[in-house]
Amino acid sequence: MIIAIAGTNGAGKDEAASYFAQKGFVHLSLSEVIREHARALGQEPTRALLQKLGNQLRAEHGDAYLAKRALQKACGAPNLVITSIRNLAELEPVRNTDGFKLLFIDAPAELRYERTRGRGRPGEGLTFQEFLALEEKELRAGAGRQNIEALRQAANAVVTNDGSLAQFHVRLDEAVGEIPRRTRLSWDEYFMQIARTVATRSTCDRKSVGAVLVRDRVILSTGYNGSISGTPHCDEAGHMMENGHCVRTIHAEMNAIAQAARNGVNISGATLYVTCSPCWECFKVLANAGIKRICYGEFYRNEYVLEAAAQIGVEMVDLSAAM
Ligand SMILES: [Zn+2]
Ligand SMILES: [Zn+2]
Repeated sequence: MIIAIAGTNGAGKDEAASYFAQKGFVHLSLSEVIREHARALGQEPTRALLQKLGNQLRAEHGDAYLAKRALQKACGAPNLVITSIRNLAELEPVRNTDGFKLLFIDAPAELRYERTRGRGRPGEGLTFQEFLALEEKELRAGAGRQNIEALRQAANAVVTNDGSLAQFHVRLDEAVGEIPRRTRLSWDEYFMQIARTVATRSTCDRKSVGAVLVRDRVILSTGYNGSISGTPHCDEAGHMMENGHCVRTIHAEMNAIAQAARNGVNISGATLYVTCSPCWECFKVLANAGIKRICYGEFYRNEYVLEAAAQIGVEMVDLSAAM
């Protein structure tokens, strides 16, 4: 089940998302995708930059891009809650999925004004009149910009948050109805989720990648991108830039192979689960190490990896849609 949450400023969108997260929903924030993009560019994610990058990404790749990127992180989780939605077109990738619900959270303006004061959001330092004027601008903005009114019109339910927290939760439950029971993950989803967890140990914040080598449903080794053992990390010593790439780290796939080598584990015929498809250098080593199947989350650059894989019979599996 996918629940999308939109609403007015200070209505309680974040509270609604964390309520569903407590129930086991995976929380995907579209603004987090933009923040990650800013980090990948090595830029400080200020509010102004995030707005600019968000507009750029939507203009370049279409309105649905942020949602697609966010979904890649979900990695097959059955229940998702999506926030930071700016317009209806962003929901295109999920609107027709089973059990999809768009909730619009609202509350009286005076109440929302009080809530937004002092939390570093729009509304801070504004008078009530200025708060209303800013909102009016957002509501009337055209396509591609904040178009809150269209989201309200399209919502499956408008949930008013003008009482206690407990009342709000009851109203959210009523709006959503029965939540389907958790289904078991497939083996591919299971190992890919482990790869995502492995990626969180990465020591270069330009790109976090996790890799897991598996044969017969047994994990042989794992790896994430990081510095040579015993040398400083990027966050301590800065990136080591060469032609626009940080070359300080050993790639996740190489580290997974190195870990197997240290332990004398045979990885011939294994499947690689990797959050981001291998670069050409890694692919060559994987091929000669006898890896027969590569399941990847995000596709990363090299088209000729796909060509070579087809040539030598390495199966390339795009798991981004299932993620
Ligand atoms: Zn780095
Ligand atoms: Zn690589």
